[in-house]
Amino acid sequence: MAIFDPTIDSSDTIRATWAEVNLGALRCNFRLIKEKINNARPVGIMLMVKANAYGHGLVEVARTLSDLADCIGVAVLEEGILLRREGIKKPIVVMGGVWGDQIPHFIKHDLILSASSMDRLFQIDDAARAMGRRAKVHLKIDTGMERVGIHYFNAHKLQEAVLKCANVDALGIYSHFANADAEDLTHAKLQLERFQEVLAFYEKNSIQRPIAHMANSAAMLRLPESHFDLVRPGLLLYGVYPSPFVPGDIDVSPAMTWKSRVVYFKVVPPGHPVSYGSTWESDHPARMVTVPVGYGDGYFRSMSNISQVIINNRKYPQVGTICMDQLMVNIEWDSAYNGDEVILLGSSESERITVEDMAAWANTVPYEVFTAINARVPRVYSGLTYCS
Ligand SMILES: *Cc1c(COP(=O)(O)O)cnc(C)c1O
Repeated sequence: MAIFDPTIDSSDTIRATWAEVNLGALRCNFRLIKEKINNARPVGIMLMVKANAYGHGLVEVARTLSDLADCIGVAVLEEGILLRREGIKKPIVVMGGVWGDQIPHFIKHDLILSASSMDRLFQIDDAARAMGRRAKVHLKIDTGMERVGIHYFNAHKLQEAVLKCANVDALGIYSHFANADAEDLTHAKLQLERFQEVLAFYEKNSIQRPIAHMANSAAMLRLPESHFDLVRPGLLLYGVYPSPFVPGDIDVSPAMTWKSRVVYFKVVPPGHPVSYGSTWESDHPARMVTVPVGYGDGYFRSMSNISQVIINNRKYPQVGTICMDQLMVNIEWDSAYNGDEVILLGSSESERITVEDMAAWANTVPYEVFTAINARVPRVYSGLTYCS
């Protein structure tokens, strides 16, 4: 079992709150995605493991899936370094913005940089020259996100400049959708057109096009023209569709179950409000259990008096304000005992709490629910034989 503090001997930790990650389900999801998109012609897949693999565990997920992937996508330098330290050999693209002082570290660890502006490109070229090495980059084109990346209408300058950089290999070129999961695809289609125009540069100048990629999960499912050479599905790989507007026939399954255990039981009489701020009380005696998980683990405080949990195959409401380390559940007059399993996210025999449920309760998106589950919650891995 992975523990949140490696200085604690694992024989000494029996955390009552943990997240089970089914690595076999992740492998199945990957294969299903691969089968689906390789239907018409071969398209590569970038394994997106940024933000601790959407909370599922950076190193374990990369170890489990990297043999199936064409390359790996992370957001920051340190994620790339961790993967290299684990002996992962696949190309690793760091998609996020960088500042100058970080550049030599990318080159040292053989990580692919995003060259997102003329300045950055020249900094990368200079750093590579100074190290006597070659830097690998993917050109980052902004087609409508207004985040990192050179504007599509200036992209030709970057495309030309990189050809003259003696110490830089432009292996790829990419852009990112802002609205591929929205009901209305107008903006996404505009972005796609802009990127296609940027790519026309290569044909016009009879230059071999580097690997082009643009599609996140939503675009992969909804805009086949955005597949180009490589797709970058993230959330879908973890078994979740990006939004209700993204239809699809890929039968992925969620890989994470978040669990805890009952650690206290009491009968709360009427007139005895529960937790900070006294936001909830019962008008009759009710059985209350305490579960050792709270916003300090990533169980959002904004779900107070809204969320539900599953105990003994039944759903019960969480009541009172969610604390940093604990929350209370009203089981009315049912029974639950110290040590009974509590499912915060996932399925029991006949009940289910999805990441979409939790996102709705917290007024956020599944992405934030996953990535908020923090390092205090140990990840426990299973299921490697479930899908080869
Ligand atoms: C996170 C990310 C993705 C994956 O997005 P999903 O919506 O999870 O599929 C793809 N590309 C980039 C640049 C990203 O940052």
